[in-house]
Parts: sequence; C-alpha cells; structure tokens
Amino acid sequence: MFVRPNARRIGFTLVLALAVSVASAYEPLLLRLVVDRLAAVSVAHETGPAVRQALTGVIALFAAVLAGRLLGAAWVTTSSCAVRLNMEYQLRSTVASKLSVLSSKTHGEIGTGGLRFAVDESAPQSARAFSDVAFRLLPMLAYLSVAAWGMSRLDGSITAAVLCLAPIPAVVALAAKRIQAKRDRMLHGFWIRIWSRYTELLNGMGTVRAFAMERVEERRLMRRMKWAFASIQRGVHIDARVTVAAGLAELAARVVVLTLGGLLVVRGELTVGSLLAFLGYVGGVFAPIQQIVDLYPTTRKAAVALESVFHVLDAEEEAPDAADARPCPPIRGEIVFENVRFGYRDQQRALDGFDVAVRPGETVALVGPSGSGKSTVFRLLQRVHNPNGGRVLIDGRDLRSLEIASVRQQFGVVPQDVVLFNDSIAANIAYGRPAAPREQVMAAAMAANAHEFIMRLPHGYDTKVGEGGRALSGGQRQRIAIARAFLVNPSVLLFDEATAALDTESEVAVQDALRAFRRGRTTFIIAHRLNTVRDADRILVVSDGRIVGDGRHQELIASCPTYARLVHHQLSIDASREDEPADAMELEAPHAGMAA
Ligand code: ADP
Repeated sequence: MFVRPNARRIGFTLVLALAVSVASAYEPLLLRLVVDRLAAVSVAHETGPAVRQALTGVIALFAAVLAGRLLGAAWVTTSSCAVRLNMEYQLRSTVASKLSVLSSKTHGEIGTGGLRFAVDESAPQSARAFSDVAFRLLPMLAYLSVAAWGMSRLDGSITAAVLCLAPIPAVVALAAKRIQAKRDRMLHGFWIRIWSRYTELLNGMGTVRAFAMERVEERRLMRRMKWAFASIQRGVHIDARVTVAAGLAELAARVVVLTLGGLLVVRGELTVGSLLAFLGYVGGVFAPIQQIVDLYPTTRKAAVALESVFHVLDAEEEAPDAADARPCPPIRGEIVFENVRFGYRDQQRALDGFDVAVRPGETVALVGPSGSGKSTVFRLLQRVHNPNGGRVLIDGRDLRSLEIASVRQQFGVVPQDVVLFNDSIAANIAYGRPAAPREQVMAAAMAANAHEFIMRLPHGYDTKVGEGGRALSGGQRQRIAIARAFLVNPSVLLFDEATAALDTESEVAVQDALRAFRRGRTTFIIAHRLNTVRDADRILVVSDGRIVGDGRHQELIASCPTYARLVHHQLSIDASREDEPADAMELEAPHAGMAA
C-alpha cells in the first residue's frame, strides 16, 4: 500500500545500492591484482613503458571503482532518505485521516495516547525499518554472496574457515531474538500506557490539582518511567553482548587467515596479493554481518510498530459513508426520526422507539433526566452513529444515503463543552469558514452578542484565548461557539445548552443570541433552562430513550408528570441561586406548584 507509489524510486535506489555492494565486493580482488602485478614486476626487475602502462591501467581501474562506489553510496543515501520520508509522510497522513473516522469504541480501546503514539512514533519507525531492510540488508546480502565467490577463487580452505566463523554473530543474535522481541512488545505497550496517562493528566490538570494529587501522579509516572528505562537498559545489555560476540568472531577469523595464509605464502602456494585480499574480505564480510545483526533490533521494533499502525488502520470506522452515498442538497429542515432504536456497544437501549417529525424552521427543546438519551439524538442526527433500527430522515432522505460531510456542513452545532483552540478569537469564530473576511466574523459575533465583550479584550478579535479558551468565561465561550455556528449560516441548529450556571448577563446574552439565530432554521436544543423551554415551539420530553411528552410548556405541565417533575426540580435549583432575577422564578412558580 505504501510501497507502490514509490515503486520507481525504490527500484532505482535498490539497483544502485546493489551495484555499490558488488563494486565493494570486487575491491579486494582488484587490490590483489595491483599488488601481485607489482610483486611480479619487482621480482623480474622489469622496467619500460609496457610495464608502466600495465601498472597505471590497474591502478586507474582500482581508483575508478573506488570513486564510483563512493559516489554511488552517496546517491543511495540521498535517494533512500527521500523514499523513507515519502513513505513516512504517507503512513502518517493515512493514520491521521483514519483518526477522524474511528469508532468511539476504538478510540476508547486505544486511547488518545495510543493513537498519538501510532502517528508520532510507530509510523516513522516502520518507514525507517523498510528503508533499512530494502537499501541496506539486501545489498549486504549481495555483497556477502559476491565476497564468498571471490574468496573461493583464491583459496578453498581459508574460505571455508572464514565462512564457518562468519555466521556466529547471526546465530547469537537469533538466540537473543525471542527474549528481545518479547521485551520490545511489552515496552511498546508500556509506552502507550504512559503516554495515555500523561495525556489524561495534562487534560485533567484541574482535577489533579483540586485533589492535591500532583506529587502522587508524578511519583506514579516516574516509577513507570524508571521501570521502562530499566527494561531498555536490559535490552541494551543483551545487544552489547551480541556485538561483542560478533567482534570476537571477526578477530578469530583474522587470526585464522593470517596463520593459514601466512603458511601458504611461505610455501609459495598463495600470493601476497591474495593474502591481502583475504584480509580485506574478513573486514568486508564481518562488517555487513555485524550491520545485519545491528539491523535486527530495528526491524524487530518496526514489526511491533507496524502492528500498532495496522491496528489503527484496520480498526472499524464509525458510520462510514455508503459506497453509493450522494452529496446532500441544500437542507430545508424537515427532520424525522422514524421509530429509531440505538444502543451503545450492545448495552441497553439509549434510544428505544424514538419517533418524531419536525417541520422546517421549528424549534424543538429536548428535556429529560440525565442519561435519558438527549445527546444520543444529537449524535444520530449528525450520524456519529447509525441507528440499529428505524431511520433518520432529512427532507425525506435517509441520512445513511447521504455523504455525511455534506450534511454536517449545513449544521450549526453549539456543544455544551465548547472547544476553543489556542488561537485568536477571530480564528476561533472562523473555524468552520477559515476564509471568511473580518466583517463577516464581526457580524457573526454581533449576532451572537459577543462583539461587545470581545472589543473589551486587550487585543479585540486578535486576542489569544489560551488553551481550551481558558481566558474566557463559560458564557463567553458559548457565545463564541454561537458566532462560530452563525458564520456557517446553517439550515439546522443543534444547541446543547450549558448545564453550568452562567452569570446573569451571559445567560441573557446567550438567550437573546439564540432567539435571533434560530429564526427560520430548524433548531434542536437540549434545554436546561426554563426560559429556553418556554421559547420553544415544541417541547419533547425524553425518558429512557422514548418521547413521553410532546407539546408546549403549559400543556405539558398539566399532562406530563415527568415534565412537571423536571420543572419543579429546575425551580428549586433556581431558587438556590442567589443571583437569579426574582421575576424568572415567579413566572414559573405557580405551574411548579401545580405539578408538585
Ligand atoms: P443525556 O444526553 O440525556 O444525558 P445520553 O444520550 O448522553 O443522555 O445517554 C443515553 C444513555 O446512553 C445513557 O444510559 C448513557 O449512559 C449511555 N451512553 C451515552 N454515551 C455513551 C457512550 N459513548 N458509550 C456507552 N454508553 C453511552
């Protein structure tokens, strides 16, 4: 999958790398030619232009091969690096684009830290290993084959001795393989857990501080880190022993070659040039074997890394587009839930026969106890999940038949926990329309009742909001989110009201902004405030994944006990808020009294 787009470059680099290896394997034979020719000349006391010419020819050939090999090797380095970076880019981007479509189940299983690890660590490690195997391992094997052939032409017995000693490092490495692979896999899982915890801690620093758990968390993290480092150290010990074994085997081979070769030279059965060539081959043969041994940990880690990359790539997607999905035409705003059933991870039904038809432009408030299924309605409407039974229809079209991005582009979503990025106010408002001119951004902010407070900030629209928008209050964040949704000019608005108490000014500003915004758009509000509920055209009372009440405030107070209970509960919360304006309570109090 990642090899094919680079196939030509990989092929070219591989051929060049093989050519460089074969040239290197020929070098000792050329050295032998030069030395033996020199020896012959000196023994025969020959002189003259013919001898000089022959000598110059051999030396020039030797130099040319050496220079060619150097240039080729430099080219291989550059080209293999380009292949590696290309593959790394493709791997990273494939994993990254998969992240946004992963099911929430997979997100939960792998965790944020694990997913980041797959993108930041595992993907580059896999690409590096591929490049090492393709452009180092294969050429080294080619070198070894040519070198073995070259040596066998010089002397059989010495070749046999060298070749007997040559595999010793590989044998030692293989013996270490199982224990090292197990350690690597364990360590990999361990890093993922450390990263996940670390990410969680950073996100939840407020909670950590609130419970004064900083030191405990720090100690826990450092203890794990220490364990991981100890494990790495044990692995390095084993790797070092393997390297020493390889070095000793090479030393033994040199001694054997010098002893056997020296004897043969004295007896006149081997030339000095051949002995030198043999010594060259010992260095040449053992260096690549040593490198293959060194390559082994890289490929071993890469195999584990690749496993985790493919674990992400093969993971199930959440409600992907159907093969024949079509783009969604402009939405009028008729939304129908047709006997919708849905449950998370085979758990009990979060929605159980949810059945409602909403007319274009209607404002529907969803109310119900916590866990009754209100947010699930939003998720199904945005097709974060598909229903297990029944259908969700937009303007008569089954949501499953549409390209979901084209639907979501026409939705304005204001979540309860507004996510702001550490960027300017203007950039945050323009998140869904990055190219929007400043006037439009300001118009959206005005419509969202945010302009005034923005202008009071030190740098106005260019004020940085801090990570997660920490520099702003809850009500301000929500108004930024409304402006953000405004700018998209959506046909359908999904508004999840903040449960947290907003200050009175913010609450009034948010309510006013919402009232202006929902005009002419189909609007769903998960409502927690009586003012919002009263404003809605229609209230759906949700309980245990079903609609148990559908109507206006007054009707429901009388007809729906669940609704009456909720209103009563809300009133007691409001009453406990000292800053609540008295008239808001008075308006609702008689109904609540009736309901109680
Ligand atoms: P509400 O928004 O009304 O508080 P939700 O729609 O969030 O309710 O939840 C409905 C039910 O589904 C609850 O029982 C809740 O525990 C469960 N639920 C919600 N989200 C998930 C999830 N991601 N995984 C498993 N269960 C969930």
